[in-house]
Amino acid sequence: MTLAHDLAQDLAAIAAEMASRTDRGQPADYIPELAAIDAKQFGISVCLADGTQLSAGDSATPFSIQSISKVFGLAIALGRLGDQLWTRVRREPSGHAFNSILQLESEGGIPRNPFVNAGAIVTTDAALGHRPPKEYLAELIGFIRTSAGDEDIHIDRAVARSETETGHRNFALAHFLKAQGNLTNPPDLVLGAYFHQCAIAMTVEQLARAGRFLAGFQRLIAPERVRRINALMLTCGHYDGSGEFAFRVGLPGKSGVGGGILAVAPGRASIAVWSPGLNAQGNSLLGTEALEMLARRTGWSIFG
Ligand code: GLN
Repeated sequence: MTLAHDLAQDLAAIAAEMASRTDRGQPADYIPELAAIDAKQFGISVCLADGTQLSAGDSATPFSIQSISKVFGLAIALGRLGDQLWTRVRREPSGHAFNSILQLESEGGIPRNPFVNAGAIVTTDAALGHRPPKEYLAELIGFIRTSAGDEDIHIDRAVARSETETGHRNFALAHFLKAQGNLTNPPDLVLGAYFHQCAIAMTVEQLARAGRFLAGFQRLIAPERVRRINALMLTCGHYDGSGEFAFRVGLPGKSGVGGGILAVAPGRASIAVWSPGLNAQGNSLLGTEALEMLARRTGWSIFG
């Protein structure tokens, strides 16, 4: 049992340690709007089963959640399509970068998993159905606001615009998927929805609360679906860094190139960390280290 005061000390120690680090990784620069962000920032927030929430560092600063949005998008797509989604996207780690194009051609336009970009584009297409993107985005934001218990969560339009103007790899992926018959909507429409969902801005406090349904504290979707999303977060949530993350942290987690990570200790905690500098795999360098420290101090692990 983790006592709240021990956890408060842990979080303060982790924030102090991260503040002292000089090697902080590089913020994503392929989305111009994210390139200028101050890499010195670090925030962490934890929600426990009893409703307690504890935070440290820059926990009230909004950041771009980017690929963490894929978790919420997947929950919506599964709600609409159920297991039919799995005819269009697989459930295997890719071993490739999040934005890789290589594997998609050799595997006939069926993405490895819903968390690599190709898989998330297919998942967004499925979640859209034949609705206008606005309707899907309203459902997605509504889901996130409900899970976070906070209406003050919005899309950062400047980030969405920035990626729309420069996201040529994602355009390549979407057009290839369309050519292979794995998109029902026009590529531009799907990418419009995808870029806007990635541009949702949240604080770690909001994000930790939004992850409570994955920790089993809040019932928004069926428990068996939660287990499957957590399994995919563990195996695919950090792309070609997923094995390393499972080894070091031992919890399901989903990263985003904004430097955020949402991690879940089922039944125990929902954890959000943020530090904008990334490692070579595009995952938050200090975010990962902070989670490793937290897991070591608390003993939280899904591996016993
Ligand atoms: N919007 C980003 C992209 O498509 C998301 C990538 C990420 O967070 N890993 O490139």
